[in-house]
Amino acid sequence: MSGGKLLELFMDHARAMDIEISNIKAEAINEADGTYNILVGNDMVRTKTIIIATGVPYRATLPRENFFLGKGLGYCATCDGPIYRAKDVLIIGHSEEAEHEAKFMAEICSKVYFLPMYEEIGDLDPRIEIVNDQPAAIMGKDFVEGLELNNGQTIKVEGLFVLGAETSPERLVPGLEIVDKHIRVNRNQESNLPGVYAAGDCTGPPYQIAKSVGEGQVAGLNASKYSVLLSTQKIPIENNNQ
Ligand SMILES: Cc1cc2nc3c(=O)[nH]c(=O)nc-3n(C[C@H](O)[C@H](O)[C@H](O)COP(=O)(O)OP(=O)(O)OC[C@H]3O[C@@H](n4cnc5c(N)ncnc54)[C@H](O)[C@@H]3O)c2cc1C
Repeated sequence: MSGGKLLELFMDHARAMDIEISNIKAEAINEADGTYNILVGNDMVRTKTIIIATGVPYRATLPRENFFLGKGLGYCATCDGPIYRAKDVLIIGHSEEAEHEAKFMAEICSKVYFLPMYEEIGDLDPRIEIVNDQPAAIMGKDFVEGLELNNGQTIKVEGLFVLGAETSPERLVPGLEIVDKHIRVNRNQESNLPGVYAAGDCTGPPYQIAKSVGEGQVAGLNASKYSVLLSTQKIPIENNNQ
């Protein structure tokens, strides 16, 4: 059968197991008191165990992109957007999901440009100006001052967002140990952070389905063992009397 058909059957199986599936990008994960808060769209999901399977890590494609990170360049408009309130920003959107973030920015910024890197753009907020070209270079010395396009035109902005591209794991989870752009895991698929597991392409090559599925299985088993261990942890005797 085709790969698409096989995927459909796997999805049917997962649904039959009553697994809740949320097709929303996880924007950021932060640890607080042994639990992780995951920013998913406008919601915060709290959990003690996470398996990261985000695929091949995003690699910066624009010259000096890494240099400008945090200096006018961001990868999450929902997280960093408020810094650019009443300012001009440009969004490079890699998927339809970026359109929601562009709308959010249009509410708070004085001007939003949207440069789609995909076809079939949806109905964008009328306040957003579409840029029909490819990005060539980020302008600015110490901070983002604008974007130069392939056609030589320049657009002056104070904020630049690259959205909808794959998330690099270290941006997703601060403190996660990365080796050569991939999440470092042991044979139990454990990362350096307690309760955080990783599987698939995000842990490194070979980028193959069999390897990803196998790692996913190991991560799944160990993550559930970890959850059980947490819920059966001994409680100190003084608390037991309460
Ligand atoms: C064109 C092509 C052909 C290939 N052919 C083969 C082949 O013949 N045989 C083979 O074995 N392998 C092949 N591969 C490789 C194989 O597809 C990968 O190894 C496998 O899909 C990796 O699985 P994964 O779950 O780790 O990542 P992916 O399948 O890449 O899935 C990662 C998912 O995570 C999502 N994601 C990323 N960040 C976030 C976030 N922050 N929040 C929410 N979701 C997020 C992504 O959108 C994506 O859906 C091929 C790959 C490509 C691109």
